[in-house]
Amino acid sequence: MHRAVWTGVGAAVSATLIARRQPAAAAAFAIGAALATASAFAPRSPLFGRVLGRGPRGVPCVALTFDDGPGPSTPDVLDALAREGARATFFVLGRQVERHPALVRRMVAEGHQIASHGYDHGILVFRGARHVRDQLTRTEDAVRAAVGAEAMSRLFRAPHGFRGPATVWAARRGGYRTAAWTHGVFDSAEPGAAVIARRSARALGPGTVLLLHDADGWAPERSRHQTAEALPDICRSARERGLALVTMDELHAPPGAYRRRGGRRGAGT
Ligand SMILES: [Zn+2]
Repeated sequence: MHRAVWTGVGAAVSATLIARRQPAAAAAFAIGAALATASAFAPRSPLFGRVLGRGPRGVPCVALTFDDGPGPSTPDVLDALAREGARATFFVLGRQVERHPALVRRMVAEGHQIASHGYDHGILVFRGARHVRDQLTRTEDAVRAAVGAEAMSRLFRAPHGFRGPATVWAARRGGYRTAAWTHGVFDSAEPGAAVIARRSARALGPGTVLLLHDADGWAPERSRHQTAEALPDICRSARERGLALVTMDELHAPPGAYRRRGGRRGAGT
């Protein structure tokens, strides 16, 4: 539902309650409406259901995540990750998968996780469940055509993390868990590779989920070369702190998976 609707309903009900001399109830309702509004635009808010964010603090792993691709800078990102022996999670757009299927095949071949970012990066918080389901299904179809259905993990990150009840409901009905992040470094504002690397280094710690971009959700063919250039430094910072670079599923694998697989966190769920 649109935030203006929540705000409007909250204001109308509160005004009615005040008119009926029930100020406490009016205040409670106004706070509830404000909370719902804020939660829709707070990527880590649990109000509309559990969100997959930080991994366990006791395990020395971090997840690099890349949104909006694949695009022209994705090969450079994949090259950098391969040089560092790092695995990452790519929240792909179905529209971009259709344009660059070979890059999705390369992601899978090199051990990265494919997750959904919707089809065309349209903001979903304003849209109904049918539209959200359509975005998820079209992205699944694109990945299936590119590399096979089994490559698509059941992890979904809404564009900008904006979610409403219909977004969460449709994702859950589709078998998806909703993913967020712990730190964004605003690489999409192109502050320079050194700044991206410095902000990322500050963010890295056990359980960090770092939000980066290998493409641009609004200008699909735009370069993200600064992000690619920052990756060697980001990976070095992680290594210096003894942090393994793993996929989201590996980061959130149940503790038993760590022991069962001989000390190396496995493919997870
Ligand atoms: Zn995005």
